[in-house]
Amino acid sequence: MTANIQRKIYRGRLAPTPTGYLHLGHARTFWTAQERTRAAGGKLILRVEDIDRARCKPEFVTALLEDLRWFGCRWDEGPDVGGSCAPYTQSERGKFYREVWRQLLAGGWLYPSAHSRKDLEHAPRAPHAGEGEAIFPAHWRPAPESWTPPATPDGLNWRFRVPDGERIEFVDERCGSQAFEAGRDFGDFVVWRRDGVPAYELVVAADDHAMQITEVVRGEDLLVSTARQLLIYRALGWTAPAWFHCPLMRDATGRRLAKRTAGLALRALRAARHTPDQLRAEWSA
Ligand code: GLU
Repeated sequence: MTANIQRKIYRGRLAPTPTGYLHLGHARTFWTAQERTRAAGGKLILRVEDIDRARCKPEFVTALLEDLRWFGCRWDEGPDVGGSCAPYTQSERGKFYREVWRQLLAGGWLYPSAHSRKDLEHAPRAPHAGEGEAIFPAHWRPAPESWTPPATPDGLNWRFRVPDGERIEFVDERCGSQAFEAGRDFGDFVVWRRDGVPAYELVVAADDHAMQITEVVRGEDLLVSTARQLLIYRALGWTAPAWFHCPLMRDATGRRLAKRTAGLALRALRAARHTPDQLRAEWSA
């Protein structure tokens, strides 16, 4: 009998958020994603992460498509080229996210949280977390008998209950073995906001799964998010992708580039007559 070996085709993704112009740091991460896809003979997917409509602007979507193309990025599926996993724009995927919320709720992983981000200002902080991540205190979880599961997430903040004390481990293809302790390095996290917007952790895990992404390439600021997303994968019985977290680009003073670092925006570099080849040569130097 011959074994029927089905090789999984590599699927990578670029997942920009249109809250500003893309800068050189984004370009470097996206270029890595593209190179890894090419090396694996896979497919590259472009997904526009505009779920937070209040912060995103259509003009930044147009700009990011233009800037990425100028830089030399080419994708096989995306909002402008279509594909079998369409739509590739998060603001058009609301129904699907509600279904994922429903599944998480049905599995007993979520609870409605009366506490806002502001309440967390005085909560204990994670020991190693960057940017002072506050840990949601376990005693703020509502008693199970105090609420009944509604049909929709509307009007409430919904949090994912993390397994306190459990070490969430994974191997990152660049950074090596990683471990984050639930309840200590990160706490119960929001998956759906009171204002009706599903949160990053839910939408990104849901989309990477639905779009059959086999490796997620992104910035290393998201390592701890990977631990949260792994909990979502596990809760839903999904197979997790591989992970490759890239170093963040810093400016001359050592600060991490932000969308407001205008001088290093791809459009500014292009206007100043830099070429993509030259920019890439500089970062490999
Ligand atoms: N849209 C997210 C960002 O720009 C991407 C996060 C991810 O790659 O998972 O930060």
